[in-house]
Amino acid sequence: TTPTETLEFQSEARQLLQLMIHSIYSNKDTFLRELVSNASDALDKLRLATYRDKDLDADTGDLHIEIETDPAARTLTVRDNGIGMSREEVVTLIGTIAKSGTAEFLRKLKESQDAAASQDLIGQFGVGFYASFMVADQVTLVTRKAGETEGVRWESAGEGTYTIGPAEDAPQGTSVTLHLKPEDAEDNLFDYTSPAKVREIVKRYSDFLTWPIRMAPLSTPEPVEAAEGEAEAEPAAKPELETVNSMKALWARSQSEVTEEEYAEFYKHVSHDWSGPLETVRLNAEGTFEYQALLFIPSRAPMDLFMRERKRGVQLYVKRVFIMDDCEELVPEYLRFIKGVVDAADLSLNVSREILQQDRQIQLIRKRLVKKILATVKSLQSDKPESYTTFWSEFGKAVKEGLLSDPDNRNAILEICAFDSTHDADKQTSLREYVARMKDGQQHIYYLTGESRQAIENSPHMEALAAKGYEVLILTDPIDEMWVDSVTDFDEKQFQSIAKGQVDLDTEEEKKATEAAREIQQKDYEPLLTWLTTTLEATVKEVRLSTRLTTSPACIVGDTYDLTPNLEKMYRAMGQ
Ligand code: ADP
Ligand code: MG
Repeated sequence: TTPTETLEFQSEARQLLQLMIHSIYSNKDTFLRELVSNASDALDKLRLATYRDKDLDADTGDLHIEIETDPAARTLTVRDNGIGMSREEVVTLIGTIAKSGTAEFLRKLKESQDAAASQDLIGQFGVGFYASFMVADQVTLVTRKAGETEGVRWESAGEGTYTIGPAEDAPQGTSVTLHLKPEDAEDNLFDYTSPAKVREIVKRYSDFLTWPIRMAPLSTPEPVEAAEGEAEAEPAAKPELETVNSMKALWARSQSEVTEEEYAEFYKHVSHDWSGPLETVRLNAEGTFEYQALLFIPSRAPMDLFMRERKRGVQLYVKRVFIMDDCEELVPEYLRFIKGVVDAADLSLNVSREILQQDRQIQLIRKRLVKKILATVKSLQSDKPESYTTFWSEFGKAVKEGLLSDPDNRNAILEICAFDSTHDADKQTSLREYVARMKDGQQHIYYLTGESRQAIENSPHMEALAAKGYEVLILTDPIDEMWVDSVTDFDEKQFQSIAKGQVDLDTEEEKKATEAAREIQQKDYEPLLTWLTTTLEATVKEVRLSTRLTTSPACIVGDTYDLTPNLEKMYRAMGQ
């Protein structure tokens, strides 16, 4: 066996632990939610592992979570008989933070000066197991991985190092014992050795977990003093534990039975987010194939929304049995921020990712989910404009990817888009609103892409449109450059870049009137135009007279099929 060693936390982990020790997060109860949530995940993982590997030597007879408090020793223990961890796993899972977006999170945290902003960030990041150090000055974790014989004991005060070594006779699964900080004892609110208090927290945060969470009954009779001469009597039997959660999967309960708070706590469990969702989306399908979906739109974008190793957040269950996290087949990439659960009744418990990719049921579920999510956002637009604005500013950039990747839902996506426009500098507009404001005779939805609102507003291309009083959409996201190339129209109105080709702003009468004048001008300017065209031969295709400019003497325009300057820059940056 390996001897007990003292190891150092990885530096990101150390920084996070410092934050927990000095606990700038005010809702300390959340530590228990994190521990119970991990225990529940460990039971899910064990059950799944035994489905996958029939030879796994694991005990699955009575899977449960147990919480024990000891007021005298000032300890609180959360125990599960789930998957457990190997020594190596303890080192990587507990000693380091592998979460993507960690560097970004720590950078922001350093920058944010006030406590409220820091709390907000922690809430967004979710600190998991480390939340223990908000209330404990010493944490002991004993674990044995299912199928392995040797247990592991891990111990730390959270200050830079931890010890890790073998544990004798460790049962399968994990127990986490917190040695509670003394200062919390004075405040009744924070007395985590009080069984009543602990029960209340479990009910509040973890009631819906489908594994039993057991505790000693509240009114344990006082142990009777052993009378003289009875010293050899059997020690008093441990009181039978009782289950304190209702164990009802929220998605299987009727909507009217479930409170907003319950949904919010469930959201936190599946998303590992510490703040509540922006909106809850429910879907119940009965009939040939049955499934239930309980999905959430978070109130904030995760740090890794645009990172390569980001995860999608929908879990797959089959008849209440957890099958997998992060099920890519259930939501498209552009909705990767959606969290929640889909429980399908007719899939096999042995279903693998490879099978899922081919599965027609899954494809149909995905189709319905996408439509439902887009419809939910659409209803936010009209019913909860503030939520909609939050949604769009957090996730709009991701959603617009769908304009390219999901042609089937293109219209529904266009309906929920919002864009900056020349109409109102302070408020984005939907395309519907733009179309409603179109002037008589206006054929197109005009837009200009560019790096910033200011650059676009000052563009000479803008002049003629401003003179005519036409509204122009101001598109500044890199993704805008891409979708405008393939999305041609909305509500039968063509999109038209004002920087490309011949922008035709005049009515028929105006055209006739200017035609004659143009011909004369053209003759007058012919020598200049020819001279300019030859002189600038190396840089431009053609120099021509234009009706678009009102105050600038000249501007550069692209051909209809040319790349925009911004896109050209992007491609060049990518080395193409
Ligand atoms: P998260 O749950 O978001 O992954 P945590 O900090 O809560 O982050 O836990 C880190 C990892 O440690 C978990 O992903 C899991 O692999 C492992 N872990 C924590 N608690 C347990 C447990 N009770 N049983 C098995 N593994 C656990
Ligand atoms: Mg966790």
